[in-house]
Amino acid sequence: MSMKINKTYSARDVEQEAQSYWSSAKIFLADEHNSGEKFYSLCMFPYPSGNIHMGHVRNYSIGDAIIRYQKMCGKNVFQPMGWDAFGLPAENAAIKNNTHPASWTYKNINNMRIQLKQMGYGYDWSREIATCSPDYYRWEQWLFLRLYERGLAYKKKSVVNWDPVDETVLANEQVINGRGWRSDALVEKREISQWFLKITDYAEELLDGLNHLEEWSVQVKTMQKNWIGKSTGVQVSFKIKGTGNTVEVFTSRPDTIFGCSFIALAPDHSFARELSEREPDIKLFTDKCMQMSTAESDLATLTKKGIQTDYIAINLLNGEEVPIWIANYILSSYGTGAIMGVPAHDERDHEFAGLYDLPVKHVIKPVDKESANIEGLFTGKGILINSGEFNGLVSDDAIEGVTQKLREIKAGTFETKYRLRDWGVSRQRYWGAPIPIIYCDDCGTVPENDLPVVLPEEFEFTDKSNVLKNIPEFYNVKCPSCGKNAVRETDTFDTFVESSWYSARFTCADQPNMMLDERADYWAPVDLYIGGIEHAILHLLYARFIHKVMRDEGLLTSDEPFVRLFTQGMVLKDGSKMSKSKGNVVNPQDYIDNYGADTLRLFMMFSAPPEQQLEWSDSGVDGAHIAKSY
Ligand SMILES: [Zn+2]
Repeated sequence: MSMKINKTYSARDVEQEAQSYWSSAKIFLADEHNSGEKFYSLCMFPYPSGNIHMGHVRNYSIGDAIIRYQKMCGKNVFQPMGWDAFGLPAENAAIKNNTHPASWTYKNINNMRIQLKQMGYGYDWSREIATCSPDYYRWEQWLFLRLYERGLAYKKKSVVNWDPVDETVLANEQVINGRGWRSDALVEKREISQWFLKITDYAEELLDGLNHLEEWSVQVKTMQKNWIGKSTGVQVSFKIKGTGNTVEVFTSRPDTIFGCSFIALAPDHSFARELSEREPDIKLFTDKCMQMSTAESDLATLTKKGIQTDYIAINLLNGEEVPIWIANYILSSYGTGAIMGVPAHDERDHEFAGLYDLPVKHVIKPVDKESANIEGLFTGKGILINSGEFNGLVSDDAIEGVTQKLREIKAGTFETKYRLRDWGVSRQRYWGAPIPIIYCDDCGTVPENDLPVVLPEEFEFTDKSNVLKNIPEFYNVKCPSCGKNAVRETDTFDTFVESSWYSARFTCADQPNMMLDERADYWAPVDLYIGGIEHAILHLLYARFIHKVMRDEGLLTSDEPFVRLFTQGMVLKDGSKMSKSKGNVVNPQDYIDNYGADTLRLFMMFSAPPEQQLEWSDSGVDGAHIAKSY
């Protein structure tokens, strides 16, 4: 780092004087009674990892420049700051440094607050939030119970990554090449009972709402649209020969049904499970599949594998018999967990059929092709051939015709499916907000209405998967309903739950009696939300969902949490993202100490357009500093 500093300009003196004036004059305190048009600007709040990094500096410098401009234009500005304080890194750091996640987190918050103040950002610190505070998460617990009453929170069994050596559930990012990150043991899939929020009930509204978000980038909206993944099609029943049963498949291309040459089931489809209990070969295959990642990104590149069952399915439209397979590329969570394999007109089916020598029957020809003798894969729409009474129809007409026919013979219904799954919010971790539920042998699942359920912080933190399971004072309780001995839920919430409603709570962070008061409706929605593109799907989708839930609870009236979304570019050093492992991290504190915050902010704002990547440059900082000194 260059240290050629102009002695005539003392950044420290100038900045401290300005900052103490802003503070004493209450320049940045929010005021609902100001007559100007309201402008609520929010930068995604940080995880308190220890120190602010250059990504924070860029994000927050952009936000701060904008609120100062809006303020000078006469708007009534609100810009709060807080801490996304729960999560796994605190537990890992606590184990590594032999401390407690709570004390580690609070220490980091105090340090980072000092740094943000040194940066001179115009925050209303009177409305600061730390999500690990019971004052905050008690309202999350309260909202969860409202959701539970409305049937939007429910418990079901679902598959988790299980480390058999550490005897703990692992997050996906803790599984490295199929092994536990700490134990190096082969990770198993286990089914355990977990809490889910029914985001799928809002799928259509979340999709439709994207059309009204005019100040969001097309890129982010497209990512959300694909994640919700709406498709319309037909659920078709195939008869299982020799049994009274049927297998249901979902297809968005019923016009290709005459080209079906096999049925494929997901390894954990109910019929596949039934077979695996009787047949060792099938069990061996499905067990192996269950160990594989089911992330869709992995499925796309997966080597396709299958096993043929002894069963035959009958296509009720033409009486044709096709074999039933179990295949590793079918997802039980999408559609019905079973597909009709049409190798001539579907890429994945084509690949699978090639591996196992299954028939490829062409039933669609391109509109512009005269000959009916086509070969290879054709996934487009066209004109039907080899399809009985539907020959000669164009695909769109055939989709309608085939669907109609299937309905007549009671072998199909029109369906809308979404790729979006319900949101699993249970985490088998200590450092999170407790889920306010009690289990009683007599009464079953009982909501805990005595809120907050406080996460205990006064005990020695140990290297255990979920230490709450080892604190009887926490989980041994009396049933609120019958008074008998009962136990508390020891799972905590996914930290995405806390960040899904913090923008609303900022507006009334000091309100002790309710989740949101009338100030929420004054400030919400956020006029400008700034953060990284990596949050395009999960955080932003969950926040939109919870905002709509809060609206339906009568807590506020707007439909969406964020009017305008801005995603800033990354800060790079030597062409790549700053990271400890690459050793290319530049620490903001060094520059605050040696150049002052204004130099750093000036460099951040003028080195690259805000939406593009910014390459770190020490000489650029020098340049900004010289400019600042005049
Ligand atoms: Zn009871």
